[in-house]
Amino acid sequence: MAVYAAHLTRTLQGTPTVFQVTAQEALGATVKPALRKVAEYLAAVYPNKCGWCVRWYDEVFLLFDSCLQYYYLKHYAASFSESFYDLIRVPTSSSNEFSSGQQLPVYLERASLALLVLLPYLKDKLEAVVERWREDDEDGRLGKSTQDCLRRAATRVYMVAQSAWYCWRLVQLARYMRGRSAAHSPALCALGLALRPAPPREPSEHTWGDLVTSVATGDISSAAECLPLLGGAMLRAVEYGAFGVQFLRWWEAAAAPQQALPVPPPPKRDERSVRFRNKCPVCLQSWKIPTVLPVSGYIFCYSCISKHLRSHSACPLTRLPAAETDLVRLYLD
Ligand SMILES: [Zn+2]
Repeated sequence: MAVYAAHLTRTLQGTPTVFQVTAQEALGATVKPALRKVAEYLAAVYPNKCGWCVRWYDEVFLLFDSCLQYYYLKHYAASFSESFYDLIRVPTSSSNEFSSGQQLPVYLERASLALLVLLPYLKDKLEAVVERWREDDEDGRLGKSTQDCLRRAATRVYMVAQSAWYCWRLVQLARYMRGRSAAHSPALCALGLALRPAPPREPSEHTWGDLVTSVATGDISSAAECLPLLGGAMLRAVEYGAFGVQFLRWWEAAAAPQQALPVPPPPKRDERSVRFRNKCPVCLQSWKIPTVLPVSGYIFCYSCISKHLRSHSACPLTRLPAAETDLVRLYLD
């Protein structure tokens, strides 16, 4: 162990490059969308048996991620993606940080787990709610009630907070690059942790040759002793699998650059639409057979709009040219 500890002291002195720390973050961000694809595929093939995987994906992933990150924090003092890039978390302030080898203090282990797992889950949930309110606001579905005003304000506050968070991350990374900060991210900084190169993993006492020999000779107890070897191989397979998925995502984005373009803002809202909420702009009654005119987005009774188009060949409100064949039936109820 003394030899091992001496080794630690020597190797932990280096600081990971900015490429290593950002690459591990990118790898960590790949796992959730990659597994969502698997869940979506299963739900499409077996809608009755696996449909719940997509409905409850955030919660299922929370459980999976908790187990995965807990395992890596416990055994390697690093998150899944940090471990892949051979990094470990070490306390920045404590002087006896290596006394317990690769083990983080329990409170830091729990805090790391919460920031790695719980925080992204809550952020995703909050983001979904805010996105819904933002869309409602843009589509004019938010009124003048106190509740709606609060929603509108919350959306703005969230966007400002998000921008501030990104700026803070950039500043922290810049400080890290200049050697002013030991941690590259605000989360690690708050925990008083920093990433350092991990010491080489201790070689297993058993080899694949031992396992094959034990299985061939039918020595079950010896074969069982080699099981950690299989476990380690499976974990490496998961790590390289995640790395492969990250590469494929990059490949896909590079091959189809138009998909990486930002979504343009929605078309401007027609001010007149407020007057015709939930009624046909022609007869000003509730719709009978609601039908949308795609060129303007207004919804009419089928008979009102088809009669109008036959004589005018244009939208009654926007005057944009349209024909009866453009009409689309809506199924609102
Ligand atoms: Zn009508």
